[in-house]
Order: sequence, then C-alpha cells, then structure tokens
Amino acid sequence: MAILNDKFEILPDEFDPTVTNEMAIDRNVHTTSLTVTEPEVNEEFTGDKEAYMASVLARYQKTLVERTKYHLGYPFNLDFDYGALGQLQQFSINNYGDPFIESNYGVHSRPFEVGVLDWFARLWEIERNDYWGYITNGGTEGNLHGILVGREIFTDGVLYASCESHYSVFKAARMYRMVCEKVNTLISGEIDCVDLRQKLLANKDKPAILNVNIGTTVKGAVDDLDFVIKTLHECGFSNDRFYIHCDGALFGLMMPFIKHAPKVTFNKPIGSVSVSGHKFVGCPMPCGVQITRMEHIKVLSNNIEYQASRDATIMGNRNGHAPLFLWYTLSKKGYKGFQKEVQDCQINAHYLKDRLREAGISAMLNEISSTVVFERPKDEEFVRRWQLACEGAIAHVVVMPNVTIEKLNNFLKDLVEHRSVWYADGSQPPCIVTSVGTHNCICPAHK
Ligand SMILES: *Cc1c(COP(=O)(O)O)cnc(C)c1O
Repeated sequence: MAILNDKFEILPDEFDPTVTNEMAIDRNVHTTSLTVTEPEVNEEFTGDKEAYMASVLARYQKTLVERTKYHLGYPFNLDFDYGALGQLQQFSINNYGDPFIESNYGVHSRPFEVGVLDWFARLWEIERNDYWGYITNGGTEGNLHGILVGREIFTDGVLYASCESHYSVFKAARMYRMVCEKVNTLISGEIDCVDLRQKLLANKDKPAILNVNIGTTVKGAVDDLDFVIKTLHECGFSNDRFYIHCDGALFGLMMPFIKHAPKVTFNKPIGSVSVSGHKFVGCPMPCGVQITRMEHIKVLSNNIEYQASRDATIMGNRNGHAPLFLWYTLSKKGYKGFQKEVQDCQINAHYLKDRLREAGISAMLNEISSTVVFERPKDEEFVRRWQLACEGAIAHVVVMPNVTIEKLNNFLKDLVEHRSVWYADGSQPPCIVTSVGTHNCICPAHK
C-alpha cells in the first residue's frame, strides 16, 4: 500500500465498495462507506492526504477492472473506449431545457444531442419535423416521460402494462396517481392479449394508455405491438382513444437490426419510444433517448420565462456530456456496426443456452433475444461473483457485445463445477417450469 498513516482509515485489500454484505431494506448499511475526512492544516506540506486519496482511487480502479471481468447479469455493454472525449471532462456541459430551443446558457452540446435524436428518429421512422425528443438520464426517465405524455393527453386514461414490465412503469403509475391495470403474460414473458382484451373491455369508457415492452427486463420478451393495436381496435378503441408508449430500454436498439423481427415504427399508431443509452450502446454514465410526436409535446409544454425555453422534459438541467458519448458511438459504429454486434450477441446467447442444456440445466432463450434465463444458482456467493440478476427461482445472463465466448466458457465451467458440489448430496436442482414452460425446464420432474 502506498501510504500507511494512522490518521486515515485503511481499507482492507479485498475492499469492494460495490458489495454490501448485509441485506437491509429498513435501514442504511454503512459498513462499506468511505469516510470523507477534512484536510489537515499542514496538508500542503505533507501531501499525505493526496497520496491517500490516490491510493483509494487506484484500488477502486482495480476493483472495477475485476468486477467488469465477472459481470454477466445486467444488460450493460461494458466494452467501449471514450478516451477521445477525456478532454471535455473539464467543461460543465449542460443542455438546459429543450434540445431544440437555445437557452442563454452557452456551454451546451445541443448540436450533438439533436444529431443523435435525428439518428433515432430515422431508426424509428418519423420525419424530422414531426418528432420531438431529448436525451434522458435513462430508460426510466423515458418511461416517466412517455407515460406522462399519455396522461396529459388523456387525463382520465387507464394505464395498461404487463406484469413483467419494468418497475419504473409502476413507479410512473404511482407518481401520477393513475389507475393501472396489470395484464398477465405468456410463458415467454410477452403480454397476454386475451387478458388485455378483457381488461380493456372492462374499462371501455376510459381512454387507454399502454406501455408496450420491446424486450422485458427479465426474459427479454417482446410484446406483440401489432396484436396489441389490433386488440385495441377490436375493443372499440380508435386511434384517438389510446396512447402507446414503447419501452425499448435494451432491445429497442437491438431489434431494428434483426432480420424478420417485428418492427417498432412511428408509421404505426404509437406515441413514444424510449431506449437506454448505457445498455446496448455502452456509456460510462446512465443516459437514454426519448422520442415522441411533436403534436403531443404541445400538450405538455409550458413556456418558462426564466430559462427562455419550453419545459417539456422531466429534468430541468440535463447532462450535456451524455449526447457526446452517444454521438461518438453512433458515428463510430453506425447501423452496420450495431448490426454485427447484435448478430454476435444472438450467436453467443444461443451458444450459452445450448451449453446450459447440454449440462442438464434448465434454460430458456426467446427467439430473437439475447437474454438467457436459467435456474437460479444455489449459492448467493456465486450469484454475486457473476453479478447475475435473479428473480424467484430464475437467474439470467444478458449477452452484450462485451460478453465473449471465452467469458461464457469461464462462466459455464464455474457453474458446472459448483453445481456438482451443490447437488452432491443428492438434492435436486430447482424446477422452473412455471417461469420457462415444460419444453425449457429439464429439472428431474420435467426431463
Ligand atoms: C433497464 C430497463 C429500464 C430502465 O432503464 P434505466 O436506463 O435503467 O433507467 C426500463 N425498461 C426496461 C425493459 C429495462 O430493461
């Protein structure tokens, strides 16, 4: 260790600020906090504090490298190099207010932001003059915005979302005090339109606001947008009586590059689409993109004299660095680059699913997805090491561009080795038939 000074709390070598060992919902756990200490009066002479801080950061970096190596469960592409943007860190870049209206604050990145938005507008097929959008802080803000737009258009609308929707959708419902109908899902994780029909018919007198999942968080399932629209029409909801927000946090940016996949496009009667920027694209900070129709935004915006702008975003001050990162990656990779990466993800996801099955492990992979669902590993330590996201008896790996065959092989080897120990006593691996169906569950009862 660089410095050992009893003035400071020394971190153990295995210190990992990302892990809390205790699970506590009802109180804050401080066991892993890094104390902020006041500078010493004579600090300028000794330089001790500076050296201490440098050592903390160096060790933190080491931890990040290690944790990046063993990450599989979250849909984040950890493979990027934004070195070229390092020079911009010294600026307080802030895209205050509306992307399309200059404010008086000049240190902004609006031209990059609008460039990125135009790219997404092309991807989702809406004319430049017909759309409005902005770069958000992530998929959650996109959902909060999309559902708010729907709510502002239909103040008495009922929100419909499948029960496998991201929790931010239900957060929006609570924030806006909306009546929310949770719709059942099929085994695949996609919305059950038979149940949707029943619920729509039960609320026929109220306009409908729908959240449609373009890739659910846990199973990567894509709601059948065309069937949802057909169901709305059949239930007597004309296009001016519903609003559809498409939550494409992860998959909204993968699906357009898959041949024969269903299409998300503003040529269909949808109101908005959102995507996360730090998921498939990869970005050091959370961010996202929200696109809606210009006509809707008029409902939402008030003119705010103070900022000489239009107030149609959720946040006021907005991260001006994020558009630079997105612009950089979109420019570097382009449609072709993304297409290749999506293909690789799909190939590797199928590889993982097939190897799991061969090893006798229940696993499911939705046709066009790269999210592999399988039995939850028995040991929480194992789950933590590989940073797997778990829900009930299932876990998943989201195959992103940084997840190579080599990494998957390491994971598979580790899992198979551990499993032979976990079940050496003759105990059985969990049955996950209720989550993945009979043809995907190969537990002893369903082999
Ligand atoms: C991740 C995710 C979100 C939330 O996105 P953030 O960028 O984490 O805010 C919303 N919906 C789905 C389906 C997601 O997977």
